[in-house]
Amino acid sequence: MSVWDGIIGQRAVIKTLEQAASDLSKTTQSWLFVGPEGVGRSRLALAFAAALECPDHGDGICTSCREVMAGISPDVTVLATDQVAIPIEDVRALVDSSEQMPSTGAWRIVIINDISRIAERATNVLLKEIEEPALRTIWILCAPSLQGVLPTILSRVRTVRLSLPSDEDVAHYLESATEGREPVPKNIARRAARLAQGNVDLAFRYASDPEAIACRDRLVEELLRTSSAFEATIFADKLVEWVQRQAQDAADEHVSRAQREFLEQQGYDSDNGRLAKMESAVRAQYDHLGAAAEKKRLATRLTRDMFDRILDDAASVYRDVEIVHAHAQDAIGLLNREQRDAVVALAGSITRAEALDRVEAISIARRRLHGNGMLPLVFEALVCRLTRRCLSK
Ligand SMILES: [Zn+2]
Repeated sequence: MSVWDGIIGQRAVIKTLEQAASDLSKTTQSWLFVGPEGVGRSRLALAFAAALECPDHGDGICTSCREVMAGISPDVTVLATDQVAIPIEDVRALVDSSEQMPSTGAWRIVIINDISRIAERATNVLLKEIEEPALRTIWILCAPSLQGVLPTILSRVRTVRLSLPSDEDVAHYLESATEGREPVPKNIARRAARLAQGNVDLAFRYASDPEAIACRDRLVEELLRTSSAFEATIFADKLVEWVQRQAQDAADEHVSRAQREFLEQQGYDSDNGRLAKMESAVRAQYDHLGAAAEKKRLATRLTRDMFDRILDDAASVYRDVEIVHAHAQDAIGLLNREQRDAVVALAGSITRAEALDRVEAISIARRRLHGNGMLPLVFEALVCRLTRRCLSK
């Protein structure tokens, strides 16, 4: 067993990190892990932290390994970047704590889950620390791409690029019973891996939540079926409303969980009878966690993430159409195999230029989405353009 067991693919990266963790005298103290959403950056950062702290360089079984992997090591701090923007005060507090000596382990390790979500002003607070970390401190920064990372950061870190794991690697992992999970049946594991396209988090969701796959199927089938501007508008409205409701529910649940965990850390019972007895400072922090603005920020981010995924799913339909047009079904294989007949029918009813036009429409919608465009408008425009064949015929 080792801390790397839960990492999917990434063989070359693991080799580099294993070497770094086994020769602590030469260990680089500031790292940047770069890889697209869902590829497993945060999991890799945690595994690396465990390997650095472990007397056996990551055996996965000692107390130190288990504490780090469970997120309860006193020497490993993770700055989760769930919020849209990280307040500068949080970054300052992180820098202060990074300067302390480790309490039990070999290193004090600070992991920042997504450095590109930290505003430039707050990032500047980090620069000096990353350039010259405290004697026993290691920084592990993560980011989805190099574009979002300031050059001033890039020049101060050792960059490790994660690759997209293959469908086989992901499926194989799901099928095995690693980390005490139940193995996923082969056909479900294969399908989840294929649809997730290297996004390990998404593959987990597809493999464990039949509703997630069903939602995706409905979306793809609706896109393949919808054939009038009127239907497209209704579909877009329903989709936007559904996503916003899901995101709001998820944000509420996330905030409640954060509040519960905070109370537990403070030694309070989370039943309401005790809340009245909270000290005012604790109460203020508790309320801050549950502030309406906080929920709204989180819901906005989750909404955007969900729409990003919907755009990926929509793009997969036209990718498949292009594959049919190129007669490459056997060579490359369709992503939406379960909707094969409808994909082939769509390929017969639109030209290659039209398929490309739709891929382009999806990129435009993505740019508008990230530019904070009004969601209902962005989606109505997109779905209408995706179903245009019926307007022009
Ligand atoms: Zn260990």
